[in-house]
Amino acid sequence: MGKQFVISSGHGDKVSGAVGILNEHEEAKKVVNRVYDIVTKEYNGEGYKYHETTATTQNQNLANIVNFHNNKDRELDVAIHFNSATPAATGTECLYYDQKLLSAKMSAAMATALGIVDRGAKERKELYFLRNTNKPAILLEVCFVTSEKDAAAYRNNFEALCQAIAKVMAGHLGYTKNQVEGVSKPVAKPKESTYYSEKFDRLVLLTNAGVYADVEFKEELNRYKKDTKIDIEAIVYAKNGTPRFLVKDKDKCVFITANREYVKAYTVDK
Ligand SMILES: [Zn+2]
Repeated sequence: MGKQFVISSGHGDKVSGAVGILNEHEEAKKVVNRVYDIVTKEYNGEGYKYHETTATTQNQNLANIVNFHNNKDRELDVAIHFNSATPAATGTECLYYDQKLLSAKMSAAMATALGIVDRGAKERKELYFLRNTNKPAILLEVCFVTSEKDAAAYRNNFEALCQAIAKVMAGHLGYTKNQVEGVSKPVAKPKESTYYSEKFDRLVLLTNAGVYADVEFKEELNRYKKDTKIDIEAIVYAKNGTPRFLVKDKDKCVFITANREYVKAYTVDK
C-alpha cells in the first residue's frame, strides 16, 4: 500500500463557517469531493474524505474532524477552508504548523489556477486542526468568501483549482497521474464553439498574437510569433464571459486568446 491522505472540509453542517458571497462550508465540501475524486481516480491515490455533520458546538466540530484524521493511517492531512474579511481582501493562503514549503507550493498553485494573488504560506501553530493532527498537515484558505472578485474566480476556475490542489498533494505523496486518456474526463466533445471552454496542457499559436497583463485585454505586454508553443496554466473568463488562457511569461501570469482561430490547444502526454 502506498502513502495515504485524509482531506476534510472546514466547519460542519450544524456549525457554520464564514458566509459571504460564498458559503464556506458548502464550497469546502465541493472542493473536498472533487479533489478526492481526482487524487483517487486520476492519480490512483488512496485516502479518506470527511465532512463533519453532527456537532453543535465549534469545539466538538473541531474534535470530530481531528479525531477522524488521527484515526486513519495516512501521511498527509488537508483541511479545506475559505477566508473572510473586507470586500477588498483577495487571494489564496495556505496555513501550516511545520509544512512551510508544501504550503507555499499549495498557495501558489491555487493562486495560479484562480488567477488571483498568492498571499502565500503562513505559520499558524495555534490553530486546533494544525496543532492536534499528528501527521504533516496543511489548511488551505482557497479565497475570500467576502470578495466578488474571488467568488467569480473560484466559480470560473473550479476544475482548475481542484486539479491544482490534487497535483500538489499527489506530488507530496509520490502519486503519478494516469496515462490513460479519457479517465474521468468527459469523452463526448460538445459542439465546437469559437472559443475553447476547457483548460488544455499547451497551446500553439496559429498566428502572431498578443499577450496581456489583464484578463480584459486592456494592456498588451508582448506579441508572440506564430508557431510559438506555451504551457497553459488555467482557463479564465473576462467580465463578458469570453474565455482566455492564463499562461506564464517568465514568472508572470499573463493572458492570451482562447479563440480557435488564433490558437490550437492540446493535451500533452507526460
Ligand atoms: Zn474556516
